[in-house]
Amino acid sequence: MTRLDGDMEEPADHVVQGCTRCVDLVDHRSQIVNGQGADDTELLLIGEAPGEAEDIAGVPFVGRSGEVLNQSLEARGLDRGVVRITNCVRCRPPDNRNPRVSELTNCRPHLENEIAFVDPRVILALGRVPAEELLQRDIRVTDEVGAVEHVELGGHERVIVIGLHPAATLYNRNSMGAFEEALDRSIELAGLAHRNS
Ligand code: SF4
Repeated sequence: MTRLDGDMEEPADHVVQGCTRCVDLVDHRSQIVNGQGADDTELLLIGEAPGEAEDIAGVPFVGRSGEVLNQSLEARGLDRGVVRITNCVRCRPPDNRNPRVSELTNCRPHLENEIAFVDPRVILALGRVPAEELLQRDIRVTDEVGAVEHVELGGHERVIVIGLHPAATLYNRNSMGAFEEALDRSIELAGLAHRNS
């Protein structure tokens, strides 16, 4: 997907640069936080939006949430480079508020480009916002965590697993079991569980 123009290599079309669709976010962001990880993997993890640490680093899921995610992947024999991690919106909302519907709508084409580029069999939605964005319905994550649905996205049917945001495990340690259960289900459905053996 990377385009070559003479000797100049241009960013792939799932790598967003210079986007100014969301006025409020553009005014507050340090940078656009694009997805990170494998270009070709069966498991894509999608969060809500960059937080402060991600905005500074330019990488999704760093900071304390990222540590939880990294440790959980490593405990299953996977590092971040084996999967791909991205967000519904790529710019940090001020004061860590939820992304607005208009911002989710603005950033949706970027997300769909990334899904089409990576072409994952399975998408793990890390929390309510990405689950609702992908499934286009209201979701009570506490009731539905671990549920599996099938949705047409990026030209193919994808398996969507409803998961928890890793930050939830920081606020409530009892959430760790549900977080890990959804992660395990996603890894299994993506065919990556053998890497743990
Ligand atoms: S959140 Fe997405 S659509 Fe909005 S300005 Fe950032 S990159 Fe563009």
